[in-house]
Amino acid sequence: MKKNHSNKNSHWKMWLIGLAIVAVVVLAVLPSSKQQPTQVFRSTPPLPQSQEVTFNFSVVEAKQLTNELLTATYPPEAGNSYFTPLMREKLMWVADEKRVDRLLLSAVGEYSATKSGVVQKGVLMASNYTSANRDNKPPYKPYIEIYTPRLLMLVRVQQKVPTGFNQMCKNTFALGLVHEAVHLERESKFYTVPHSDEQNLLEEERTWLKVDMGAVRQLRAMGQPLDTDYLESDDIMKRCGYKRGCPEFLEYLKSGGKSAAYPR
Ligand SMILES: [Zn+2]
Repeated sequence: MKKNHSNKNSHWKMWLIGLAIVAVVVLAVLPSSKQQPTQVFRSTPPLPQSQEVTFNFSVVEAKQLTNELLTATYPPEAGNSYFTPLMREKLMWVADEKRVDRLLLSAVGEYSATKSGVVQKGVLMASNYTSANRDNKPPYKPYIEIYTPRLLMLVRVQQKVPTGFNQMCKNTFALGLVHEAVHLERESKFYTVPHSDEQNLLEEERTWLKVDMGAVRQLRAMGQPLDTDYLESDDIMKRCGYKRGCPEFLEYLKSGGKSAAYPR
């Protein structure tokens, strides 16, 4: 669903222009993940060319926003008692594994696939395994990448939050991390063999359904603000009886053309 961009909000446009001017020179210097992924299954298939947009941003702001959201979604933080058991389990797994260096978690300023600063609208996060010794051999280590251009677009442009973030942004970020952690329930051997498009689609279906049933439905029932995509996908899964193999939901995943389709 397209968001309404009102002409009234000229102040907002001025702010965006300012951001673009400040940021255009620094995109290239944001460090990408130190660990280069091995050639393995990506949980975030690239979207069609038509889905790409260019968005300039401030590296400092991107890093700060990412860190603020990571802190805000840490389950023991005050205000997070509404997190569901699945959210709690997966967000704690991310935090704990990161702390003992068994999980790489990095905010990156570009997609490793493009190296161009061209942002694919649909992808907020991705997960996979990388060769721990960077020799394309075992042992493999799980990683999650958070794409800061997409994060800023989500928070600043789509949800029109000029500083910090709101509750919907926080929920979207938390559900994204949970989504990637569900992908990483798979062992590395699942990822280090080639996958067909059909296999990728089924892994996405498994993940979306698990996150929907273990988090989205409950958050919705609580009245927590949720992004349109989560509401749309929950509606479809409900019509599908929360069962796998539903043509409508598989088609929804395949289309990938939602204005706020993340994470993958
Ligand atoms: Zn996914």
